[in-house]
Amino acid sequence: MKKNIFLFLLIVLGTSAYSQKILLHGNDLDRIEKACNLIKIHDPIIYESMVIHSIIQSYGHYTGNKFTSTNMVEDNNYWILIGRGTLSKRSINRLAGTIFHESLHMLLELQRSRSGPIRKFSDLSENERKQEEIFVYNRTRELLVRLNTSDWEIKEYDKWASAYY
Ligand SMILES: [Zn+2]
Repeated sequence: MKKNIFLFLLIVLGTSAYSQKILLHGNDLDRIEKACNLIKIHDPIIYESMVIHSIIQSYGHYTGNKFTSTNMVEDNNYWILIGRGTLSKRSINRLAGTIFHESLHMLLELQRSRSGPIRKFSDLSENERKQEEIFVYNRTRELLVRLNTSDWEIKEYDKWASAYY
């Protein structure tokens, strides 16, 4: 009997786990879905971890030329937020890199929470934040190169990351 309940739970959790939730404003759904699909193909392990835990939303907090992203936890949901400032001017590859970048931060936070209470990125020391940012940057850059992302977008990403070196 107990085994059946466990099986039932697995099925219920299993079906809800593998559908990526994307909420958005405007017409970014198609591009975000394509970007997620690239991650699914090129890094299936990160993709599966990401879809279990996160909801993706494009958001309009920033305006102008800034291309920004962040993540946050709310009611046990992880949100990956992609600023809409110049989202439409970036390629699907670059968008995939951005979602991947925030996913890695989220997964590192979940990993930390296994050994104690959640330690958010903002709770880390300056040096720990720097180390994490460099790790996430390197992994994301590898993905961008594998995807054949255009030079100007990789250079833009490098420029942003150079603040941490
Ligand atoms: Zn970061």
